Amino acid sequence: MVALNDLQDLLVDQLRDLYDAEHQLTKALPKMAKAATRPELRQAFEKHLSQTEEHVNRLEQVFEILGERAKAKPCKAMKGLIEEGSEVLKEKASDSVRDAALIAAAQRVEHYEIAAYSTVRTFAENLGQREAASILNQTLKEEGETDKTLTQIATTCVNELAEQGVGAEESD
Ligand code: FE
Ligand code: FE
Repeated sequence: MVALNDLQDLLVDQLRDLYDAEHQLTKALPKMAKAATRPELRQAFEKHLSQTEEHVNRLEQVFEILGERAKAKPCKAMKGLIEEGSEVLKEKASDSVRDAALIAAAQRVEHYEIAAYSTVRTFAENLGQREAASILNQTLKEEGETDKTLTQIATTCVNELAEQGVGAEESD
């Protein structure tokens, strides 16, 4: 049990949770890329994998700046999000439906990260740790961009599914 006495302790505790979350994602994203059918979705997951590896490096930089040990604390929330997301891969589904489900899972992950990075960035700012805050802000921006890219791909995907739905009704 770690004692959390001040904002720096809380910041470090949250960074350790994120450090584990990002590690989990470096293992999950290759599987998601493999399961994706649309080339643009596969590419988006592959791109975000390399960004995620950089997110791990940045967290290590932040630990160093704060003079703390880079240590992971199991992130149960990320474990749950990844578990739920992988359930669809076991089901029989059409390519478009699977892609849409992968995007739904990935966007839950990105929103979790956006919330977490906004918090740690604000904590770092409040502690006067400007360099750490700016590093965390870079990652926050990339999580936001990824979320937007996923929304764009989802729109195409869902439009296609809606059209297919109309088509199926007409051919009955
Ligand atoms: Fe990340
Ligand atoms: Fe991310």
